[in-house]
Amino acid sequence: MRRLLVMALVATSLVAACGADAGGSRQSSNPDAPLQVVTTTTVLTDFAAVIGGERVGIYGLLKPNVDPHDYEPAPADLDAIAKARVIVKNGVGLEEWLDDTIRSSGTKATVADASEGITVRDLPAADRDAAHDHGDPHIWHDPRNATRMVTTIAAAFTAADPAGASVYAANLATYVAALRSLDTEIAADIDTLTNKKLVTNHDAFGYFVDRYGLTFVGSIIPSFDTSADLSASDLRNLVTAIKAEGVKAVFSESSLPAKTAASIAADAGVKVVEGDDALYGDGLGPAGSDGATYLTMMRHNAQTIASSLR
Ligand SMILES: [Zn+2]
Repeated sequence: MRRLLVMALVATSLVAACGADAGGSRQSSNPDAPLQVVTTTTVLTDFAAVIGGERVGIYGLLKPNVDPHDYEPAPADLDAIAKARVIVKNGVGLEEWLDDTIRSSGTKATVADASEGITVRDLPAADRDAAHDHGDPHIWHDPRNATRMVTTIAAAFTAADPAGASVYAANLATYVAALRSLDTEIAADIDTLTNKKLVTNHDAFGYFVDRYGLTFVGSIIPSFDTSADLSASDLRNLVTAIKAEGVKAVFSESSLPAKTAASIAADAGVKVVEGDDALYGDGLGPAGSDGATYLTMMRHNAQTIASSLR
């Protein structure tokens, strides 16, 4: 009975999260800049700002802590897309809502797919259906993939705005060096752990797990799709797995409700990592938070995982 109640609470808060208004300022970050760009996710907004500097004006479709799997574009989004010269998307099926939006805007923008050249992780067979056969879209959780993503973005900016080529190249070189140090630092941090077993809110950390040698025991939402249904037996199986495997903590995520994570952790007798410590699975956090930029977000996730599993 308690589990049913928890599931009902989760179901309603997921609906609320998906339907929430993105809010915030709805215009380009620099309307007078030579290159106007629309980005989908908050990670791509950060990458575009780093690579483009003052030459680009950016309109980010998704705001911090908004679920990218299920977004409803606003009329202002269509205007921005119509005016843009470059649209940057994550790809791998993350933005299933984007193609129709691009079509109805009538834009002439080029679309840069940031997943180009990246080896995509397969979805478990259970998570695959006609609408979700693209593989795991959370590619940015491996900094080496992030390097590819910013390289693709720099190439798209250079093609659309050749006069800015040297700016984009210089910004790219600086950032690629920062990504390399980030990767080395996280690898060293995770390497010190003896217990590397991870349980998260939804299945966002596959690339992180693969890159840094963690073991993924399970997720609360048993799918890449945050709108997927939870079953009582899935939850029970996860509690059993946590106990059997000696998992030390359950991690909730900033863009998803923490109630189920807390309840599963309590049932299994382990700690739950939530609130300001929650992991950033689907994008960045708001300005001023640990997740404000890609680099700080990745450090937050790695340090939180390392300190909670120590
Ligand atoms: Zn996700």
